[in-house]
Amino acid sequence: MARFALSTAATALLLASRSIASSTPHLLHRQAAGATGNSANSSSPYLEEISDFLDAASDELWKVNRAIHENPELGYKEYKAHDLLTYFLEGRDGWNVTRSTHGIETAFAAVFKGSGDGPVVSFNAEYDALQNLGHACGHNLIATVGLGGAIAAAEVMRAHKLPGTIILFGTPAEESLGGKVKMLEAGVFRDHKIDVSLMAHPTVGGGDSPYALTQSTDRLDLEYYGKPAHAAAAPYQGVNAQDALVLAYSALSMLRQQSLATDMVHGVITSGGTSINVIPDKSKASFQIRSASDTDLKPWTERLLKCFEAGALATGAELNLTMRPYGYSNHRTNEVLAKSYARHFASLSSNETLPDPDLDKLRAPGGSTDQGNISWEFPSIHPFFGIYNEDGSMPSGAPHTAPFEVAAGSKRAHNKAIQTAKSLAGIAVDVLTVDGMLKEIKVEFERTVKTQSRQRGVRATLTA
Ligand SMILES: [Zn+2]
Ligand SMILES: [Zn+2]
Repeated sequence: MARFALSTAATALLLASRSIASSTPHLLHRQAAGATGNSANSSSPYLEEISDFLDAASDELWKVNRAIHENPELGYKEYKAHDLLTYFLEGRDGWNVTRSTHGIETAFAAVFKGSGDGPVVSFNAEYDALQNLGHACGHNLIATVGLGGAIAAAEVMRAHKLPGTIILFGTPAEESLGGKVKMLEAGVFRDHKIDVSLMAHPTVGGGDSPYALTQSTDRLDLEYYGKPAHAAAAPYQGVNAQDALVLAYSALSMLRQQSLATDMVHGVITSGGTSINVIPDKSKASFQIRSASDTDLKPWTERLLKCFEAGALATGAELNLTMRPYGYSNHRTNEVLAKSYARHFASLSSNETLPDPDLDKLRAPGGSTDQGNISWEFPSIHPFFGIYNEDGSMPSGAPHTAPFEVAAGSKRAHNKAIQTAKSLAGIAVDVLTVDGMLKEIKVEFERTVKTQSRQRGVRATLTA
């Protein structure tokens, strides 16, 4: 049972989830008994079956989606989402659910075993929200895609007695706190011997793409310590910590002009002093640094460190800089998985198309995700799916804005999430059933590991 009191509405949703949990398998058995369903333009003999299953499950998944959207929880505090999703899966035949897996309180692993050994295909569900913005990154939709994709793939396994394993991981704290990095370090994915990792993320309408081109990132906190003094009577006796920070901020602002477009720094000054008539003896700020890759992040970080040191050098203030743990690597999309996704997307979509892949891959990277770290350890895909407002208009803001939060809560966005879940389930069943596909995925993975370098040693140097 839930470890804390849920609202009446959430409890009702849990009960509703329990009802679908036990009712939907029969639906699929009935459909599967009739035909494997391969329409003329289908990309897989199983896609129609997946599609029918998720269409039937959509109303119940909508309740789960709404419950998460209406109860936004910050990273590592997603207790309601964790309990809702695990409760849902515990009620379904064949699912073995481990709550708070590997000691990470709001992470979970839900495993469905087929009829014998075979590929291990995993899905990730994110469900953390943003401070003061709710689900403005649409992680309620990511949870819906992960849950829907995993149960649909599992039902195909059940109906056709396919060998292999489907796993849904609950991956908390994607926004800045590196839940998946922590799970990697704890051995969650290794212990389950996953072969591939699947998830998808919403973006503004029209942004559909199988390729997540994201940046490597690190985060840091800094403090300057000066010396207080009377601001008028004896300012010469003081060391101005606020000046140190302003100077550093000015330096890095100028540096931006001499940087690559993919080298970024952004942050907030959180404290500059407390009294207007006292020379500030303490100032604080936090910054996030991004580059196209881990390799590029290192020299960019070193240039920025000089700006922070300049503030200290010029004012005499002491600098205390702390790099946060759990930096994110850029995401590498497995080409074989991307092609499978594109095929299913084309089969399912009547009015949307994906961009030409060769042009699509030339996009500049933007944003960061801890799925990037997974992508360097296991073959991964993290497509973006475009969402619209309920009335069909484009959200007037990108992820991390209030308008996107509204769009992410719409039924229209839910329907797109269901369509995306169908494509991911299609990939999963391809991996389970297409001869040689897993081998091809692994060859592609090894090839890109060899041709792309990854050096994430910079943090160790900085904290020494
Ligand atoms: Zn976000
Ligand atoms: Zn996000």
